[in-house]
Amino acid sequence: MKVLLIGLCAFITAVGTVAYAAIDQESSVNKKVVILMGPPGSGKGTQAKKISEKLGIPHISTGDLFRENLSKGTPLGLKVKEYIESGNLVPDEIVVDMLIDRVSSDDCRDGYLLDGFPRSIPQAEALGKELGDNIDLVVINLEVPDDIVVKRIEGRMSCKDCGAIFNKYFTPPQKENICDNCSGELNQRSDDNAKVVGERLKVYHNQTAPVEKFYSAKGVVKTVDGQQSPGAVFNDLMKLFN
Ligand code: AMP
Repeated sequence: MKVLLIGLCAFITAVGTVAYAAIDQESSVNKKVVILMGPPGSGKGTQAKKISEKLGIPHISTGDLFRENLSKGTPLGLKVKEYIESGNLVPDEIVVDMLIDRVSSDDCRDGYLLDGFPRSIPQAEALGKELGDNIDLVVINLEVPDDIVVKRIEGRMSCKDCGAIFNKYFTPPQKENICDNCSGELNQRSDDNAKVVGERLKVYHNQTAPVEKFYSAKGVVKTVDGQQSPGAVFNDLMKLFN
């Protein structure tokens, strides 16, 4: 009798394990991870918000996470301040730890959209380890030439209350420094100035452009012309998900 009971328990455990593994594998197969790449000022932030709403997956911007920490004066914020203000990349270990911690949250179980990560080959490799193979990965490259990027960044302003983005050259607000949507004050990011823009572009070409080649070799990169109007870019992006 005892042997029979032990046998039955072992059988139930084995069936449970197989079923759990099947469910687990199925959920990770369905996980959609979108990586939005492109130089600073290519419109990643604007498009990422819209794509994540449309696909129902969280938008994770490593730049936003750092800025949040900076404005709250957290130890992480103090650690990364100097890198951000000089236009350099935050060291890989710091950004990878922060990113892995964020994507381990419950809201990322079915997938997420990455904006501004990975920005170096070691970051791409760390993400690959975290994701494994059973993943629906789409990497989008928003192409914009350097001269346009410089104007976009130097002119960029965002509302400190609702986050709406304006550009003093291309899409100025009706009243100077006042948000059209909520009348909040418009701010310029501390790293959106002519001196830092040059450094950020140099860093992009030297360290981040190779990441696109890393994913191209895996056949997962789709390129979209980021010079078009935000609406036209979004239409092109949506075609990739139909
Ligand atoms: P972003 O808002 O994406 O342009 O990021 C602003 C700044 O945050 C960058 O210029 C870097 O200093 C830092 N940063 C954001 N994401 C990363 C990343 N993946 N790796 C290293 N530094 C980053």
